Amino acid sequence: MSIIEEDRARYKEIFGERDKQKDYWAYNVCSLCYNACGIRVRVVDGKPVAVEGIPESDKGAQGGICARGVAGLDMYYDPNRILYPVKRTNPKKGLHEDPKWERISWEEALDTITEKLEEAMEKDSRTIFSSGSPSPTAGSTGFAGLLRPMKAGGSIGGAGIMCGGSTHHIGALQSAAWDIIPDYRYCNYILRCGGNEGWGGGRQASSTIRLAATARERGMKMKVMDPQGFTVASKGQEWIPILPATDIAVFMAIANLIVNEIGIYDKEFIRQKTNGSYLIGPDRLFVRDGQTNKPLLFDETDSKIKTF
Ligand code: SF4
Repeated sequence: MSIIEEDRARYKEIFGERDKQKDYWAYNVCSLCYNACGIRVRVVDGKPVAVEGIPESDKGAQGGICARGVAGLDMYYDPNRILYPVKRTNPKKGLHEDPKWERISWEEALDTITEKLEEAMEKDSRTIFSSGSPSPTAGSTGFAGLLRPMKAGGSIGGAGIMCGGSTHHIGALQSAAWDIIPDYRYCNYILRCGGNEGWGGGRQASSTIRLAATARERGMKMKVMDPQGFTVASKGQEWIPILPATDIAVFMAIANLIVNEIGIYDKEFIRQKTNGSYLIGPDRLFVRDGQTNKPLLFDETDSKIKTF
């Protein structure tokens, strides 16, 4: 029995009885973005006709779904949706070059992939790469995982500068974390500056909207510092409409207050884990060692200026 036949037999074993019904709800997880919301799909005469959130679900938006999730039905009925594997038959590539796609069977597709993988494995497994959306429910993450034991070269996520190119680096620098979502479960006061995670966008939009709503219900306070008075500002206790491009000045003033006037900061953390102890010259740049060009700091143990 081929892998596809095995898969179909297993599906029939689990869902065979349900699929015989004329009208039923199929429970699933939306795979249109990272949030992986719990959904149920109404199926009538074998065709999906409605999508809605599962109220008791603890996944993603925990009961709700977004407009894109609802519009998932349109993808199903899209006349241009590709329903079977296709193979490029024109080896020439370039602008205006018709790839001349030809429909092939799943068996042929899997055999071709296996053949190519074996060929690459024999030559050098590091030449194998997987590429696709990093969305956890999109399947490509699993494929990358499958390639790992083969000592493949690596995998390339498809989000580019929209996501991993900036977000995760900032998250890692700020808090050694992959994500940059405020911890709404424990947050009691939030100063929101120019972002809208938890109110309409940002990373894990629907999950954070639910988390922020729950936090508001338990009394979390929010002040919004933003030139625009949009949705986020309307949800806060106060909107501080600063002038565009003045936010850095406000942050510096807040830092100055915390460090130099009120003195409520983790001195040891700043000293040991950041560049807060580097000396600053009259030109407001780090003072550097003439030979190594490394920043200089003042060592309190021997009262000497030295590099770290
Ligand atoms: S947020 Fe919307 S698109 Fe994303 S998983 Fe949930 S319902 Fe689907």
